[in-house]
Amino acid sequence: TRIRPSSKRCAVIGGSGFLGRHLVEKLLGKGYTVSVFDIRQSYELPGVTFHQGDLCDKQALLTALQGVSLVFHCASPAPASDDKALFQRVNIQGTQTVLQACTEAGVQKVVLTSSASVVFEGTDIKDGREDLPYAKNPIDYYTETKIEQEKLVLKACDKEKGLLTVAIRPHGIFGPRDPQLVPILVDTARRGNMKFIIGDGSNLVDFTFVDNVVHGLILSAESLRPESPICGKAYHITNDEPVRF
Ligand code: NAD
Repeated sequence: TRIRPSSKRCAVIGGSGFLGRHLVEKLLGKGYTVSVFDIRQSYELPGVTFHQGDLCDKQALLTALQGVSLVFHCASPAPASDDKALFQRVNIQGTQTVLQACTEAGVQKVVLTSSASVVFEGTDIKDGREDLPYAKNPIDYYTETKIEQEKLVLKACDKEKGLLTVAIRPHGIFGPRDPQLVPILVDTARRGNMKFIIGDGSNLVDFTFVDNVVHGLILSAESLRPESPICGKAYHITNDEPVRF
């Protein structure tokens, strides 16, 4: 038997991660029923159902997506792993599997967490807009597969079939419980490896506060309707002011 999807019923793939957990907490506060799908369970929260599984496993996904109308895809291997085969398997094949499972389970909306690095060619971008082309020479394998992942998700947007998709592109997320960005900066500084400046010290970088990313993800999910101009599009998400770096 198939449970009818309810609009307030969502699943967060990668919900055990840094961003995913912030998203789960905000969704709960907004009255959503939340399931987490992840290869690991990193916490427990009342009202959240955890499904442990690999997003490359369609059967496992189908079980978790029963009755779900909205899926947030926030899972990825860590960029630092630099494992090409793993990125390809999870970010490309895995995303295809997620999209197939969503279609089969009757999911209506998919919101992807992409990355601003998909348009970064290694040269400065100031006031970069969404009409910038994808990087022809992505900076690493992670970014290469994030580009393919984003293309797959946006291409899957099909009003006739009833699946609507959108992507949000943050850059360098910081905030409480951040496992990577700030701890790595602090560690590098402690080891004395930040005592030099690249350029004249006026470089800017647009890190994104985690709550702003969550806000963007939820706003885009709630605005995603067949008549909405955001269908099948990607959006950069930033703070008001870049950080001097
Ligand atoms: P994270 O590592 O904290 O969380 C990712 C989660 O995905 C983890 O809980 C992990 O267990 C899960 N996961 C990995 N492989 C999986 C698989 N095969 N099946 C199921 N779950 C799997 O990372 P994060 O910082 O929360 O990143 C979330 C998303 O945001 C990712 O898509 C990432 O590409 C994107 N992003 C992050 C940043 C950043 O600075 N953190 C910047 C831009 C984009």
